[in-house]
Amino acid sequence: MDLKKYVALVEDYPKPGIKFRDITPLMGNGEAYKYATDKVVEFAKEHNIDLVVGPEARGFIFGCPVSYALGVGFAPVRKPGKLPREVIEYAYDLEYGSNVLCMHKDSVKPGQRVLIVDDLLATGGTIEATVKLIEELGGVVAGLAFLIELEDLKGKEKLEGYPVLTLMKY
Ligand code: IMP
Repeated sequence: MDLKKYVALVEDYPKPGIKFRDITPLMGNGEAYKYATDKVVEFAKEHNIDLVVGPEARGFIFGCPVSYALGVGFAPVRKPGKLPREVIEYAYDLEYGSNVLCMHKDSVKPGQRVLIVDDLLATGGTIEATVKLIEELGGVVAGLAFLIELEDLKGKEKLEGYPVLTLMKY
């Protein structure tokens, strides 16, 4: 299936000069959403996954159906102030300013094999932070899956040594 048919290009969003890849048409089409999910599930099965982790908010949309299909749990990565119990935090730099991501301290058990799922890999900052959080909790990052990789932004260089699946490249 040509998944790119279901990705809309939005020029100058959220800022002038940015080409935003909008995957809501893909989510909105049952066949495309199932096809993409099934590809990630196939990849997950090759890597003996115990837990799926996804960053808010589109990581939930693509991660949760994978976790359901595998019969394993899902743990969210969120911005500060959203998780109600004890968290660990990781701060990372953005082009302008910085960002912090959090996970519940008990959301990954030591030794668990974790699959990270997100919609899109750009600079890799979000995903590098997610990897650090999981590893600090003692989890093993056994794979990472993205619907889209923006190759020019070289996010994959931050993920050397980890198995990575990307369904579409731009
Ligand atoms: P990174 O941290 O620079 O790799 O950015 C990845 C994060 O930003 C992902 O969680 C994406 O959801 C979001 N993102 C960045 N660019 C786009 C885009 O063009 N379309 C949709 N999401 C994007």
